[in-house]
Amino acid sequence: MKRIGVLALQGDFEAHRKALEEAGAEAVEVRTAEELERVDGLVIPGGESTTMLKLLRLEGLFEPLRAFGERRPIFGTCAGAILLARDVANPPQESLGLVDIGVERNAYGRQVDSRVARVPLAEENGGGEMEAVFIRAPIIRRVGEGVRVLARYNGDPVLVAQGRHLVATFHPELSRDRRVHQLFLGNGQ
Ligand code: GLN
Repeated sequence: MKRIGVLALQGDFEAHRKALEEAGAEAVEVRTAEELERVDGLVIPGGESTTMLKLLRLEGLFEPLRAFGERRPIFGTCAGAILLARDVANPPQESLGLVDIGVERNAYGRQVDSRVARVPLAEENGGGEMEAVFIRAPIIRRVGEGVRVLARYNGDPVLVAQGRHLVATFHPELSRDRRVHQLFLGNGQ
């Protein structure tokens, strides 16, 4: 059984821990570089990316996390997606740059902070539809070569993969469907 860490500095890490267990993994909370060394993959949850970034710096986890991503899979959701992206706008912000995408934060605007949508899933990932919960979500504005788009909403990519990494601008941990977490568990190892 894979042992997957959930970065537990801030945000909705508890929901991811449960989702990973339901998807068939052992899930543990990660707060230190030592704990990071003991997992096969990592989830960076949703939350507030600026706060998470500050905490990563404070805990000395930023560089270890980037190095971890060079050899192990990371799944970033929402704020986690922003941290994984190469370019961040609105406002610009430092990031791990492990996935070649450009994201715009809070891109759906203030009036429609949150929404629940149904998005079609690529055939190779089982097809059909999937519920997608967006909460002050970013929009992926640029997708680099080598990035695969697995699902779109309103024409914009909302689930993408590059190499071992997976990025969702929505919150799959808040829906009952575990296919996205299962997809991550089958990734890169
Ligand atoms: N709006 C947050 C940010 O920019 C992300 C929101 C979320 O993770 N649900 O960091």
